Amino acid sequence: MAARLFFAVPLDRINQLALIRQQARLSGVLSRPEMAEGEKKPHRPARLVPVANLHLTLAFLGNVTQSQRQALLARWQTLAVPRVTLTLDGLAHWPRARVICLTTQYTPPPLSQLANALRRDAACHGLHASQRGFRPHITLFRDVGPLPAGPLTLTQPITLTINKVALMESVFEPGGVRYQSIKTWE
Ligand code: ATP
Ligand code: MG
Repeated sequence: MAARLFFAVPLDRINQLALIRQQARLSGVLSRPEMAEGEKKPHRPARLVPVANLHLTLAFLGNVTQSQRQALLARWQTLAVPRVTLTLDGLAHWPRARVICLTTQYTPPPLSQLANALRRDAACHGLHASQRGFRPHITLFRDVGPLPAGPLTLTQPITLTINKVALMESVFEPGGVRYQSIKTWE
């Protein structure tokens, strides 16, 4: 059976705590949904990403069969994970994806090299082919409707010290998605 897999950077407790603080602060803004012009009904409320699900995706693989998974793990028996410091210094509302995320305009080259290598590998083995370039981001809210005018402000940048990558499986459950780590590289 196929499973939905992706490579991600797991977050430590300190980062999780900082992200929860930003979520709590933003919840106030999001609990006052504005109505888009011409719409009759207010939008359903945005969904807070549960703390255990906060992550930074490097490469989305899509549905991966058992044999594709074995081949993938064999190809990536070793994976050199660079030690990188990444500062997420801005909030973005991406209306098409309906998310609010923490992001940055600047990606350290070793991190984009790693993300691009994983994405290239996926594409050339028949897995998901990314259409867009890698832009590091951590999604804080999903199902976000129209927002009050004005930029979202971040009270404090969040710095991640990245030295670990995980292959994750996305498991859909009645209560929402749950991520399960298949393998980690340090
Ligand atoms: P849900 O789908 O319930 O809102 P989710 O998006 O976190 O939850 P998945 O859809 O399994 O769960 O996605 C896992 C990760 O892969 C997330 O970081 C998501 O943003 C990313 N992802 C999902 N689909 C794509 C896609 N088509 N292209 C690029 N990245 C994707
Ligand atoms: Mg999704």
